[in-house]
Amino acid sequence: MTCVPVSGAGFATYDVVVGRGLLAQAGARIAPLARGRTVIITDETVSALHAAALTASLDAAGLGHEIIAVPPGEGSKSFAELERVMDRLLAAGLDRKDVVVAFGGGVVGDLAGLAAALFMRGIDFVQVPTTLLAQVDSSVGGKTAIDSPRGKNLIGAFHQPRLVLADIDLLATLPPVQLRSGWAEVLKHGMICDAPFFDWLASDGAGGATGDPAALQRAVERSVEIKSAIVGEDEKEAGKRALLNLGHTFGHAVEAELGFEEAALAHGEAVALGCVLAFRYSVRLGACEAAEAEKVARVTAAAGLPTELIQAGVFTADALIARMAGDKKAEGGRLTLVLARSIGDAFVEKTVDAADLKAFLIEQGAT
Ligand code: NAD
Repeated sequence: MTCVPVSGAGFATYDVVVGRGLLAQAGARIAPLARGRTVIITDETVSALHAAALTASLDAAGLGHEIIAVPPGEGSKSFAELERVMDRLLAAGLDRKDVVVAFGGGVVGDLAGLAAALFMRGIDFVQVPTTLLAQVDSSVGGKTAIDSPRGKNLIGAFHQPRLVLADIDLLATLPPVQLRSGWAEVLKHGMICDAPFFDWLASDGAGGATGDPAALQRAVERSVEIKSAIVGEDEKEAGKRALLNLGHTFGHAVEAELGFEEAALAHGEAVALGCVLAFRYSVRLGACEAAEAEKVARVTAAAGLPTELIQAGVFTADALIARMAGDKKAEGGRLTLVLARSIGDAFVEKTVDAADLKAFLIEQGAT
């Protein structure tokens, strides 16, 4: 079991605990934070699989609880679901002493975190992430959001959790595609700033992509350390935090073209493809050796993740560019991309030329 502190200038330090069997300890670990009751916000799938273990643990610690379960899937990051959740919190008579427990993947974490940020101008919340993606990425760093029909994650707030409990055992019930999807974010952390970690993920740690608990433990720990260090320096994404978007501008464009709701491609699969494209584009700009991009593609493919646009669908370069320029990370109309000098050395490029990017996308199989 490892404990990674997350500290930053603008928020209270909190711990991310990574280990096995943590759910049984959740009550004891949450009790010191809760002066009242807990409300568990979860999705119906996670609730059916794991809520009994969580509530037993809260019971054992003498913590009262209530469960709000939303439908699984991105569709729950909506105004309608947020309103329903807020109404349930009000109806339950929750007050500022109570604690929200976000128990699920990134969808639940983002929705529950935003509900906690808004309820009575902000109450405490704890993240108990149940997907690999949520354990290595979305539960840490305080970004919360719902989607708008105009784009993903456009309505949100920064609201840091008080505690994150990442129980590796919860990942045993994840469908393989969700495991792979989270693995893409793990690989991304190595690509951004830790080449030796990337090499370990490609060799001894590779079993994590298919559920080996020991490899997952190390992969989650190191990912959380990396994310924690970046968020601690730059909570509001004024600089370094943008590096965590490696692969995301390409990935979001592909996801948006496919329609987020249809789940034709899991989020992490889109990010994996996006990372490969970002490395290949870095090579095109002369910033990175071709061998590095080839290695990224090889390791990504070995984890069962897509490396070619054609694997995701048929896209026009114009449509992808329009999505990329409309991405909220684009500043002042110029295209911003996270690129890399090598594996472990990512950087933000704010002056990407749309015409050159279009030519690149056509080379990569867009029409
Ligand atoms: P998700 O929350 O939709 O979970 C994926 C699926 O797995 C769901 O069907 C869920 O019911 C199921 N599931 C969850 N835990 C399970 C378990 N232990 N066993 C079996 N099934 C389980 O998806 P996700 O990939 O975890 O998160 C994606 C979301 O995270 C996106 O909305 C994305 O925008 C967001 N995100 C947020 C941040 C952030 O910093 N806040 C970062 C990255 C991604």
